[in-house]
Amino acid sequence: MKYYSTNKRVTGVSLQDAVVKGLAEDKGLFMPNSIKVLPQSFFDTIENLSFQEIAYTVADAFFGEDVEAAALKEIVYDTLNFDVPLVHVNDNIYSLELYHGPTLAFKDVGGRFMSRLLGYFIQKQGDDTKVNVLVATSGDTGSAVANGFLGVKGIHVYVLYPKGLVSPIQECQFTTLGQNITALEVDGTFDDCQALVKSAFMDEELNAKLKLTSANSINVARFLPQSFYYFYAYAQLKKISKTAAENMVMCVPSGNFGNITAGLFGKQMGLPVKRFIAANNRNDIFLQYLQTGDYKPRPSVSTIANAMDVGDPSNFARVLDLYGGEHAAIASEISGVSYTDEQIAETLKSCFAATNYLLDPHGAVGYGALQEKLEANETGIFMETAHPAKFLETVEKIIGSKVEIPEKLQEFMKGTKQSLELSKDFETFKKYLLSL
Ligand SMILES: *Cc1c(COP(=O)(O)O)cnc(C)c1O
Repeated sequence: MKYYSTNKRVTGVSLQDAVVKGLAEDKGLFMPNSIKVLPQSFFDTIENLSFQEIAYTVADAFFGEDVEAAALKEIVYDTLNFDVPLVHVNDNIYSLELYHGPTLAFKDVGGRFMSRLLGYFIQKQGDDTKVNVLVATSGDTGSAVANGFLGVKGIHVYVLYPKGLVSPIQECQFTTLGQNITALEVDGTFDDCQALVKSAFMDEELNAKLKLTSANSINVARFLPQSFYYFYAYAQLKKISKTAAENMVMCVPSGNFGNITAGLFGKQMGLPVKRFIAANNRNDIFLQYLQTGDYKPRPSVSTIANAMDVGDPSNFARVLDLYGGEHAAIASEISGVSYTDEQIAETLKSCFAATNYLLDPHGAVGYGALQEKLEANETGIFMETAHPAKFLETVEKIIGSKVEIPEKLQEFMKGTKQSLELSKDFETFKKYLLSL
């Protein structure tokens, strides 16, 4: 499969180059030349397949031409060594719990897949130049990517995160690892971190001296695997009720729009999703676009659903490309909502009181959107993108009681924080990279 850039000036790129480069030279995002429609027989019996079997079928459609079957199977099976259960919450609303991986957020899926695929390509190349993975994080990406790559030979990961704007638990998931992981604490916002990473990729001098790649959801190897669990969610719902599965609405708490874009790809592959809801916090650039047809990025504001504090969602370029730039087509497929911190807190609190189901602030945005927007004949699935304990202080304050911290998280909290402070000025960052 070849890949082209959403800016259309770069075409015919191999999977390996797309994965290693991350972003195309014309600053666009890579898109596969074609999206295969999966056979009806796959959907007819999908409820009898395991998550790994479903994921391998989907992975084969994207990567089968470029990665040997046995290797791809191993990458998929190894990536998904945890379940993604569909859990009933209330009435016709289900939670797809994406937080059972090692860092308790959905980004484990893409992070683990990408690290394994990159490892495969590096090994195949036999080139021993070190690959530097740069990743900007608003909280969860850093830990998923860092843990996915931890100890992988030939790769060093630099995690850029906004100082003071990620939760203490999130922070210790990528600052305590050591080995081939370096945490860079940036005096700025997530957008500043993302801008630093993007500038680094565009800088000729840096790229001449260092092999740089990105592990943000702009990377095809991180974002495409996220489509796996949309199929698995459908399989699980179909097992519960065929009628419900025929009227399935997917609601995705969105920041950079990588997760929802993977779902949109799934639909193009034949997955019967009736419609999508992009759920936002106060950073409602996408909702504004739906309402006005104008895409106007603006600086992000910080909210209690901090992993969605994005003012210029990078995958918007992919959404546009997928629908030929047609606002009407996009608006008929996806609707949007935007909630304030107060509304998110109220949803989290009332859901817990009514159902005993504890949402995290991001999942609460998704659940709230379904509560508000779902029609009577529809069944809604929201992506529960992280475990509530990752946002301990916020969640405990809202529900007024203690939240149990899973064993996996407690382990991270035992380590010592190691990080380098950095200003948001690109020249300083560049000097640092050149000194490596
Ligand atoms: C990253 C993240 C999101 C946003 O996902 P995008 O793919 O960037 O839209 C939502 N919730 C949580 C918990 C996250 O970590």
